[in-house]
Amino acid sequence: MALARLSSTLTSAPTSTFFFRAFHPIPPPSLPRLSNRVLTVPLSVHNPALPVATEAPKTTRWKPLCLYHTHGKCTQMNDPMHLEKFNHNYQLDLQVNASELDNLSSQNFDYFLVLDLEGKVEILEFPVVMINAKNMEFVDLFHRFVKPVEMSEKRISEYIEGKYGKLGVDRVWHDTATPFKDVLREFQIWMENHLLWGKEPGGSLHRAAFVTCGNWDLKTKVPQQLKVSKIKPPRYFMEWINLKDIYLNFYRRRATGMMTMMRELDIPLLGSHHLGIDDAKNIARVLQRMLADGAVLQITAKRSSSSDGDVKFLFKNRIR
Ligand SMILES: [Zn+2]
Repeated sequence: MALARLSSTLTSAPTSTFFFRAFHPIPPPSLPRLSNRVLTVPLSVHNPALPVATEAPKTTRWKPLCLYHTHGKCTQMNDPMHLEKFNHNYQLDLQVNASELDNLSSQNFDYFLVLDLEGKVEILEFPVVMINAKNMEFVDLFHRFVKPVEMSEKRISEYIEGKYGKLGVDRVWHDTATPFKDVLREFQIWMENHLLWGKEPGGSLHRAAFVTCGNWDLKTKVPQQLKVSKIKPPRYFMEWINLKDIYLNFYRRRATGMMTMMRELDIPLLGSHHLGIDDAKNIARVLQRMLADGAVLQITAKRSSSSDGDVKFLFKNRIR
């Protein structure tokens, strides 16, 4: 869930700065890397009750993703008002300029799958953003809200209101969430369609690796949920790249979370922090910048296939 220190970044910045910068998804590499400039966190406009900034020109207004669309359930694609309000173009915030490809290193993978789970007790959201390792381009995303299996309906309602209510997406959560077992089945079909995975042989990822911000998602949360959902751990969850360890070894700086990396790289936050799909997109933007700067992404953690399932960390210098 891309835990980070929010306090220093929540100070206000001029709205115009945000709108200007929002339409320059990745600043050119020549810009200074470290900056004291404050980033701004826009209010989510998923909820019509929340104020919507109107002073910026229409053509440059940043729009939140339509979360029905990410679930394949948007029924308002013919409604101009809806299209004006919500973004249905996934790659809009993840575009790449040709000038950013000059320093690319060759990678051991063809694709990176940026994963950023939400949910403390059980997983509530499972977002994956697929980036081409050779040209940094956005390929596709997979996004599902996940319905807990061991909690009562009452507890789920309170939990969702507390977490997603303030982001204005509790309604869409209730309309779309399905149990983890079903989400995983759909995710496997999605991976198969992209030729990233097949049940045979072995069930590991082909040509791709998960990228997470920290080890929590795949070291802790996924195994817990697999147990709760009574699913045998799939092989594709056995190794991953912790972007914070790559960041530490590449830039020689420690970053405690997504927000720190974004601040240090002068990348503005887009969307709502702690909405999983927005965090995954923001982490993907950090990944794109690191690739543009020449970083090579390697597996940082591997789970042993023996019964103890111990995780081995492959980098000597790592964030603990
Ligand atoms: Zn829609």
